[in-house]
Amino acid sequence: HRRSWMDRLKTGLSKTSSNLSLLFVGAKIDEYLYEELEAALLMSDAGMDATQFLLDALRLKVKQDKLLDAAAVKVALKGLMIDMLRPLEKPLELGRHEPLVMMISGVNGAGKTTTIGKLAKHMQAHHQSVLLAAGDTFRAAAREQLMVWGQRNGIIVVSQASGDPAAVAFDAVQSGKARSVDVVMVDTAGRLPTQLHLMEELKKIKRVIGKGMDGAPHETLLVIDGNTGQNALTQVKAFDDALGLTGLVITKLDGTAKGGVLAAIARARPVPVYFIGVGEKIEDLQPFNATEFVEALLG
Ligand code: GDP
Repeated sequence: HRRSWMDRLKTGLSKTSSNLSLLFVGAKIDEYLYEELEAALLMSDAGMDATQFLLDALRLKVKQDKLLDAAAVKVALKGLMIDMLRPLEKPLELGRHEPLVMMISGVNGAGKTTTIGKLAKHMQAHHQSVLLAAGDTFRAAAREQLMVWGQRNGIIVVSQASGDPAAVAFDAVQSGKARSVDVVMVDTAGRLPTQLHLMEELKKIKRVIGKGMDGAPHETLLVIDGNTGQNALTQVKAFDDALGLTGLVITKLDGTAKGGVLAAIARARPVPVYFIGVGEKIEDLQPFNATEFVEALLG
């Protein structure tokens, strides 16, 4: 019997949640509490800016509402965090375009391949037919695996043996239109924001997709590993600068993620978080919900 995804999320974020919760146990509301809170938020990867913002807002709320006990301060912090993260909530809307064209990027190991499988399953559950462009032209074995996986799961996989990834993407869009599929997902090879030529290649893929269909890609997603800490924000900024992101998927939040980086993202670069990854299995993808997330983070 598998534990519920919320339990797995709670376990994943338990380091931060226990740090934060312990602070409030029997605490007096004094400078010491704020200092401890600052340290715990920084440890959670929230970063300086989000941490200061939360602390300032909390001090104000404590004063305005004349809060006298630690439990009430904790509830106030929870409310402020939910307010902070709520702008990141946005459902991925299907069926707006025929086909809906999505481009998916990320660094190696972020969970991109796993997430694409989960997304395809999500689309199918919503009665959307899916075509996948195997844009990761670097890894032949990965491509083969993808073809087999596609056949088994009723997903058309478009691939080219020695292809230019932009050409694969273009073909996929053409093919998606010709076959009247609902969703075209264009996978791209993993790359680091510091690999400038590969970032240029990503821009080119996006441009060429637009030549295949006006206004496409309609969604430009970045998959990030929830365990990368503050580096996740660097990735969001770099990929957003290069591509103009419309959404994020944050993976591995069931692992040992600290969670605070979502606050940093909300402050510095509020790209919507469409989904979070809460496990390795195909169904372990959940729409992001600020209240649920803060519930897991603060208990
Ligand atoms: P890629 O290099 O970005 O394509 O990464 P993969 O999709 O191959 O994933 C790398 C590893 O992370 C694999 O072992 C996946 O099973 C694992 N993984 C991906 N998403 C999640 C998640 O949400 N939770 C957990 N626990 N593991 C994940």
